[in-house]
Amino acid sequence: MVESIPSRPQGHGQSQASSQQHPPRHTHVPTHSHSHSHSHHHHHHHHHSSSTPIAIPPSPIWWSNTLFFLGFHVLAIYGVLYLAPPSKIGWQTWVLCGLSWQAASFGVTIGYHRLWSHKAFTATLPLRITLAWMASLGFQGSVKWWVLRHRLHHRFTDDPIHDPYSATRGLWFAHCGWIFRRPNYPRMKLIEKDDLEADPVVRFQHKYFVPIAVFSGLVLPTLVAKYGWGDAMGGYVWGGLVARLLIWHTTFCINSLAHWTGLQPYTEEVTARGNYLLALLTSGEGNHNFHHLFPADFRNGPHPQDWDPTKWIIWALHTYTPLVPTIRRTKEAEINKAKAHVHRIQAERLTALVPEVEKSKEDHELPEWTVEETLAQVASGQALLLIDGYIVDVSDYLDEHVSSTPMPMDTASRSLKRRSARTPSSPSSIDSGYESLGTSSGNSSPTGERSADESTQPPPQSVVVQTRILKDASRAFFGQINNHSQAAKEKMRCLRVARLSTPDRQDEDDD
Ligand SMILES: [Zn+2]
Ligand SMILES: [Zn+2]
Repeated sequence: MVESIPSRPQGHGQSQASSQQHPPRHTHVPTHSHSHSHSHHHHHHHHHSSSTPIAIPPSPIWWSNTLFFLGFHVLAIYGVLYLAPPSKIGWQTWVLCGLSWQAASFGVTIGYHRLWSHKAFTATLPLRITLAWMASLGFQGSVKWWVLRHRLHHRFTDDPIHDPYSATRGLWFAHCGWIFRRPNYPRMKLIEKDDLEADPVVRFQHKYFVPIAVFSGLVLPTLVAKYGWGDAMGGYVWGGLVARLLIWHTTFCINSLAHWTGLQPYTEEVTARGNYLLALLTSGEGNHNFHHLFPADFRNGPHPQDWDPTKWIIWALHTYTPLVPTIRRTKEAEINKAKAHVHRIQAERLTALVPEVEKSKEDHELPEWTVEETLAQVASGQALLLIDGYIVDVSDYLDEHVSSTPMPMDTASRSLKRRSARTPSSPSSIDSGYESLGTSSGNSSPTGERSADESTQPPPQSVVVQTRILKDASRAFFGQINNHSQAAKEKMRCLRVARLSTPDRQDEDDD
């Protein structure tokens, strides 16, 4: 799955996504013509770079959903402003709100998502009952309802028709815009549901979802606050209404912001991204880029430092209790291969931005110059250096090589020029610093960046055989006097104009 190269032109590097990476905000255009009948999500990358809005035939308004969702928000805001303002509630009510939110959050992440949607682990009956109850606090539909849509989301990610929360239809649609219209999902019949129907916990929770959810998410916090510390209204508004809004919108952020902003270290094939802030708010689900590539992994953030309390709880239950008999974990090699693939794509994208003239030439692209040819060039006034067996033209470079102290390269070039000017007909008199050659390091650079092919070249002592001497600046360049950065070394590579041919090599060429 990591072989195909996406067509997205943008990189993200280490930065957070910029505005240009966002899928186009689009408006619903009431037309029936659309060209998105093909199914596979890999074909949809062009949505990111395309400026053409995606035209989706409108679905009818989903009135029951719309009225419930909007009414709930109005009620919660009214409650926070007038019924139980924050200044009038005690710490117990704050704690109740947080607990009610977090119980719902872990019910959704551990239960709905990693257990039932992706079978990332197995759970015994008592744990499944607990998770199904906790998740009913999320007011996000039954296990069955939620899981089938989530499986569609994974199967057809970013497809504007078949992904229920497709981020290619804009941030608002992906977040909660999808709630307001009654869609039909023509591909739903492809989605596996036998495993859900075989689970008695799923069947029971589906049948009695509304009473379970209303009691657990609204009545129960009211009762707890009333009999716990005498604040029934605070319990209702904060433990009920506000906690429901918190679990709604943090969950929705996974479909919207986690497909919108963040890093893509594992795959660029889908819009899913890794976002640390979202991971903090969603019990670890914000590590969404990894999840879309390896959805069956019990972790969403595979790195030990990824914030993923959901994975820590699953791991602890597996390690210390009999409640989680098995867990599924992606092989480290698979993860590394995926990351390497993304690095290669990013490297290609960056390299494509470099103009040809700024690229260093490969060995076979460089001509070979003999010592005589090189010295003739020097005699004609070119400032040449011999570095690591290559002739480097520093004529243009001398002016811009800014340094507080004179660099040996400069000195060497000036030396070459001065001497060649003085005795142009006698190149053998050019000599400076040859003694440093071929002693310890020979022809190999201390950076170890030379290819095996290069290292088979004879050492530059062979130049001496002809008793003609070129300044070899290798040792000066590669760190005995200066410590040039990788960028400086790349710059030097770009200035290479030829390879210095050796007598041995010449013999081979002559044959
Ligand atoms: Zn997703
Ligand atoms: Zn998922």
